[in-house]
Amino acid sequence: MKIDVRALLAGECRALPFSCTLAFTEEDEKGCGTVGDYRFPEPLRVEGEIVGTAGYLRLKAELTAPYESFCARCLSEVSGEFSFTFERTVSTRTQLAELDEAELDDYVLAENGFVEPDELLLEFFELSLPLRTLCSEDCKGLCQHCGQNLNLGTCDCAKKEVDPRLAPLAKWLETHKDEE
Ligand SMILES: [Zn+2]
Ligand SMILES: [Zn+2]
Repeated sequence: MKIDVRALLAGECRALPFSCTLAFTEEDEKGCGTVGDYRFPEPLRVEGEIVGTAGYLRLKAELTAPYESFCARCLSEVSGEFSFTFERTVSTRTQLAELDEAELDDYVLAENGFVEPDELLLEFFELSLPLRTLCSEDCKGLCQHCGQNLNLGTCDCAKKEVDPRLAPLAKWLETHKDEE
């Protein structure tokens, strides 16, 4: 996406809306893709606006994409939609030259009157993704011994666990239980 901001820079207009979709993977013709543990069945949707206020331009965009993944605790399938807000000041190369490296993260470059934010938008979206996702905040996970999904039912593993100091007694009881 190449946004013409010349009219904004010249003060001839105040706001410029834009929208597009961005492919997660170039190789996929539908634009879907995978990032970490997330699968995106549709390309990233971008809705935004560049607004001129008091001599500078501000770019704001809403990045939205449905996702499919799995719960980090119980491994069940999880799906939903992510939506993140991207906001930067638009600057020319001359203005950017006066900034130090750390400040550059707050800016997006306007080169010869055009802004091409695609790469920045995708990168921002990918960096905003949570490291892991859960099916619900209070997911009980899987039993470490038998693999039972504890959200769906309980297992007997907790009961069977015997204090190691009492293990000989438990064993004695086990072998003698039929002798009564
Ligand atoms: Zn879960
Ligand atoms: Zn168990």
